[in-house]
Amino acid sequence: MLLVAEPVLGPEERAAAVAVLESGWITLGEQVRKFERAFAERHGAEDAVAVDSCTAALHLTLKALGIGPGDEVLVPSMTFVATVNAILYVGADPVMVDIEALERPLMSIDDAASRVTPRTRAVMLMHYAGHLTDAGPWRALCARHDLLLIEDSAHAVGIPGVGQYGDGAAFSFYGNKNMTTAEGGMVLMPKPELLERARQMRGHGMTRSVLQRLVARTPHYDVDMLGHNYRMDEIRAAIGLVQLGRLDDMNARRAALVGMYNERLAPLEQRHDGFHVPRPRSGISAHHIMPIVLPGGADRDRIAAEMHEAGVQTTIHYPPVHTLSYYRQRAPGIRLPLTEEFHRRELTLPLHPNMEESDVELVIGTLENVLESAFEPS
Ligand SMILES: *Cc1c(COP(=O)(O)O)cnc(C)c1O
Repeated sequence: MLLVAEPVLGPEERAAAVAVLESGWITLGEQVRKFERAFAERHGAEDAVAVDSCTAALHLTLKALGIGPGDEVLVPSMTFVATVNAILYVGADPVMVDIEALERPLMSIDDAASRVTPRTRAVMLMHYAGHLTDAGPWRALCARHDLLLIEDSAHAVGIPGVGQYGDGAAFSFYGNKNMTTAEGGMVLMPKPELLERARQMRGHGMTRSVLQRLVARTPHYDVDMLGHNYRMDEIRAAIGLVQLGRLDDMNARRAALVGMYNERLAPLEQRHDGFHVPRPRSGISAHHIMPIVLPGGADRDRIAAEMHEAGVQTTIHYPPVHTLSYYRQRAPGIRLPLTEEFHRRELTLPLHPNMEESDVELVIGTLENVLESAFEPS
């Protein structure tokens, strides 16, 4: 089965993990610190805070920025549920925004602007598929209304400028992301004092970590804020350091595969009305996933089933958050027409650096066959 996503892990990751196991120090320590510094440098930041998931990173970012009850945060509904959940964790109200177009499934700035109220405190961007959001217009909108700008950068690790758009950014190292530590995440914040707040909140709000107490030769610590246990461990950090070193190669491989896909999908876009391959307006992408938009009349579930039959896994990114039962019960009646249409027609094709050109051929060949029989030509 050709999978939608697959981690790239080899002997170096294994050796790094084993070295930590043999070192005698397995929880937050030097490896985590090294990983944070290397990750920050890679993204043009001063420093970073490693955590155990992107969800934790989003939570800490919002909390360190002081976003809370009474505040509204503009956020796309076309994202993974964790992006919106984090806003609820701090007691703020997510205000879900439509996408720009079927071909550009990033949050619409016009729709966002129309939803600004006196309670709006922040904008949460998400670089869907790794397609880079244009920073300029969002910065201008935020400046105009005095809003904080936050990035859910789970799809766009390693791309210059990502994580530097505004006031904070969260990254994911989950198993299907562009680089992985199995589970893991990272916080970037340009203001050192806020980043240090996030660091302290990561470890129960304690003023000194176990390692710091060891180095300082004191058993004493205080807790002066409500914290969490969102720590990353040494094993993951050591694997993360290796993955970070391969990130450019892995992202370049993704770009090459997307190039092949685009070339082979262009004729389908010509032939089938309403068939779209979303591309970033910015022209820049981390190519995290390979989404396509099927023609309006196509039976997506049947296409997915037939592709599965041919050994090609596909999936859907994403069921819109505002349509999930929990969110529907919380805030019924929300309609985001483009987001809903995109969700009805989106299909995610396999994309990971282990793929060969022949895999792309298999996907395209299968898709071509299936498309011919999957809907009534208009
Ligand atoms: C994967 C993902 C997350 C959650 O990441 P975890 O590390 O699993 O918590 C959040 N937002 C987006 C857009 C994601 O793709």
